[in-house]
Amino acid sequence: MTSSLPVATPDRLELRRVRLPLVVPRRAAHGVEAVREVVVVRASGADGVVGWGECDALSLPTYTSEWQAGAWRVLAELLGPAALAGTDAGVVGHPMAAAALEMACVDLALRRDGRSLAEALGAGDGPVTSRAVVGIGSVDEVLAAVDARITAGHRALKLKIQPGHDVAVLAAVRSAWPGASVAADANGSYDLDGAVALARAVDGLDLEYVEQPLAGPDLLGAAELRRRTGVRIALDEGATGVDQVASALALGALDLVNVKPARVGGLAAAMRLRDLLVDRGVGGFCGGMYELGIARAAVLAVAAVPGLDGPADLGPTSGYVTDDLTPGLELAADGTLAVPPGPGIGPEPDPGRLDAATVEHVVVEP
Ligand code: MG
Repeated sequence: MTSSLPVATPDRLELRRVRLPLVVPRRAAHGVEAVREVVVVRASGADGVVGWGECDALSLPTYTSEWQAGAWRVLAELLGPAALAGTDAGVVGHPMAAAALEMACVDLALRRDGRSLAEALGAGDGPVTSRAVVGIGSVDEVLAAVDARITAGHRALKLKIQPGHDVAVLAAVRSAWPGASVAADANGSYDLDGAVALARAVDGLDLEYVEQPLAGPDLLGAAELRRRTGVRIALDEGATGVDQVASALALGALDLVNVKPARVGGLAAAMRLRDLLVDRGVGGFCGGMYELGIARAAVLAVAAVPGLDGPADLGPTSGYVTDDLTPGLELAADGTLAVPPGPGIGPEPDPGRLDAATVEHVVVEP
């Protein structure tokens, strides 16, 4: 089992809404992200040590019910003041906002101790294999995007799909790259009949898994899909925490789990989920939320933890933004990303870049 993470109580909290344009708009079944807006959390102690967190809720509540505008308010009005007071805000939901605050408070504690997040999590030494995520597009567009990723060094791919943009794209990529590791992610866009038809149509394409073909809460449907087809099912939106994943396992609704620390409520919650998966012998891997550098570094540490170290949906910084707040995390020639050495999560924002990208700033009062 994993050791508990240190969490500091900060003396001061600053929140910033930061906006950076994405290099390429990202299209999935839940919508298009063209500008990445995040909340950056700066947690400081009276000793001058600073920890950093990042909230990666999307710009609209189309992926989960959480969104940036809501995260901003819940952090500024409820979660932030409670963290300064060392109390529980009693907030239901808002896992990505809570995760950002936890990240900053864990980072503060670890920087104070001179320890890395990877060490505190029990992560392995090795780099993280990056699974390149390619958005929805025409067959030609997707083939061109995959070609660019393969040329950059990626060995593993995940293609976003939705009804009407699925089998032809997957078959074309498999035909062009017979040896590549290919998975598909539907972001919950199929009904059961559609998912059964999809699973049968892609049966010969040697996919690693199909992620979230049905809506997140539909565990009975996912179990039925697994009974009727041979496709391996990964749960993403449906894996909201330990209890939900335990229920999904009891129902036979999954083969592996996409563990996004932000979506499950933070680093400690992700590790509890990891412990469950290891206990049940179920595979896990880390997903991405178009993170900027602070959260990208933190999730990379999680993605190196045994049990969560399947190829991660975490790409190089340059695939997302050109002027990140922190130094870029770039792909090695073998398609891997190194885990930042720390202390804490490792990279810190450049003050000038942070100021330039900030559109709103607030100091949270106790
Ligand atoms: Mg997904």
